[in-house]
Amino acid sequence: MTVRVRIAPSPTGNLHIGTARTAVFNYLFARHHGGKFILRIEDTDLERSRPEYTDNILSGLRWLGLNWDEGPFFQSQRLDLYQAAVEKLLEQGLAYRCYTTSEELEALREAQKARNEAPRYDNRHRNLTPEQRAAFEAEGRSSVIRFQIDDGREIVWNDLVRGKMSWRGSDLGGDMVIARASAEGVGQPLYNFVVVVDDIDMQITHVIRGEDHIANTAKQILLYEALGAQIPEFAHTPLILNQEGRKLSKRDGVTSISDFQQMGFTAEGLVNYMTLLGWSAPDSTQEIFTLEAAAKEFTFERVNRAGAKFDWDKLDWLNSQYLHSTPVDKLTDLLIPFWETAGYTFSGGRERPWLEQLAGLIGASLTRLVDAVAMSKMFFIEAVEFSSEGSAQLQQEGVKATLQGILTALENQPQLSADTAQEIIKQVVKEQKVKKGLVMRSLRAALTGDVHGPDLIQSWLLLNQIGLDKQRLNQAII
Ligand code: GLU
Repeated sequence: MTVRVRIAPSPTGNLHIGTARTAVFNYLFARHHGGKFILRIEDTDLERSRPEYTDNILSGLRWLGLNWDEGPFFQSQRLDLYQAAVEKLLEQGLAYRCYTTSEELEALREAQKARNEAPRYDNRHRNLTPEQRAAFEAEGRSSVIRFQIDDGREIVWNDLVRGKMSWRGSDLGGDMVIARASAEGVGQPLYNFVVVVDDIDMQITHVIRGEDHIANTAKQILLYEALGAQIPEFAHTPLILNQEGRKLSKRDGVTSISDFQQMGFTAEGLVNYMTLLGWSAPDSTQEIFTLEAAAKEFTFERVNRAGAKFDWDKLDWLNSQYLHSTPVDKLTDLLIPFWETAGYTFSGGRERPWLEQLAGLIGASLTRLVDAVAMSKMFFIEAVEFSSEGSAQLQQEGVKATLQGILTALENQPQLSADTAQEIIKQVVKEQKVKKGLVMRSLRAALTGDVHGPDLIQSWLLLNQIGLDKQRLNQAII
C-alpha cells in the first residue's frame, strides 16, 4: 500500500499556524513512508472563500518547503462528483429529501431546549411517502438532503494518536444534512460529505488532521460505509494552545504563517519549531531538524495527545540557530526585504558587497530577521542618533581631543582596513596618553551614537566605505 495523505485547507483566511502544523505532520508521515502528500483546497463555501486566501495558503506552504506531490485540487471544480455521490445515496435510500423549514427546525430546537435536551434533528422526514413528498413540493418547499444516521450504532476506530475512539450514533445530532437546499435538484454539498467523496476519490490512506475534527470523523466513517469504500486510518493531532492553555486563536495576535514571516522568522526555523509542536524525536534532546531529517524519525507513537503549548522562547531560539548558520549571501537575501520595508535605501555605496559585510557583522546577534532593522539603522541614516549613554560618553574629559587625533590620523589613510584602523587606535593611545578603552568607547559613541553594538572595527570600516565616518567624527567634536 502506498501511503497517501492530504492537507485540505479552506481558503476562508490566511494559512493558519494550526493548518500549517497539520500540513507538517502529513508531510513528515508521507515522506517517512515514501508516500504522497496531496493538496486540496476546500472552497465549497462560496461566501467565505477568497482567491487571495488561496494564494496565501499556496505561497505559505511553498515557503515552508512543504511541497506537495499532487494538486492543488479545488473542490469548487469537482461538484459533479459530489452530485453523483448524493444521487447514489438517494437511490439506495441511504439519504433522503427533508422538507423541514427553518421555522420548524427552530421550534424543534426550542422545544428540546425547554426539555433540557441537546439539539438534534428528529428525523421526521426520514420515511415520507411519495404523496407526502409531493404535497411538500406542491407547497413550494425546498429540500435539503439528509443522510440517515442509525442512533443505535456504535462507531469505533483506532486513532493513531489517541488510541481506541468510540462514538454513539445517537450523539451525532440526528440524520445529517449532506447537501443544502436548492430550487431544483441537489444543492451545494456540505463539508463532511465532500471530504469523504474526495478522500475516497483521491485514495487517501491516512486522514491526519486536528482533534477538532473528531466528531466529524464519526460521521464520516458512516459515509465511507454507505459509499462502499474502505475506511482510512485516522490520526487526530493535538491542538496548539496559547500561554494560558487555551486554543490559539485570532485573539493571540499572530496566527497566520505570513504574520510569522513578517516578524522575521525563517522558513527553516518555523517549520522546525512546528515539527516539535506535539511531536518529539526518539532522542528527545535532538531539536534541530530539517524536514527531511525529521521525516526519517517521524511516527505517531511520538505524537502527544495533550495540547501543544506555543513557546515563543523556543521558536526564537530555533530561529536564531538557523540565522547564525545561514551563509552571508543567503542572509543578505533574507535581510534585504526587511531593510526595504523599513525604508532604508541602498544608495551612496551601499551595494551588494557592502550589504553582505553588514549582514555578516550583525548576523550573529540576530534572533529574528526584523532585529536587523534596529541594529543596522545607524548604517543607513546620515546623521547618527545618540542614546543617552552615547552622548554622555562624548562629554567625557579628553574625548574630543582623542576623536580629533583619530580624524587627523584618518586623513593620512587613503584606504582604511582592519589593520590600519587598529594602527590608528594604537597611535592615538600613544600620542594622547589615554587608555585604549577610552579611545574605543569614544570612537563607538561618535560613529554609532551608542556605547554597545557590533564589532567596532568592522562597523567603522563599513561607515568608512560609505564616507560617513569622517562626517560623524567631525560632528562629535564640535
Ligand atoms: N477544510 C477543513 C479544515 O480546514 C479540512 C479538514 C480535514 O482535514 O478534513 O479544517
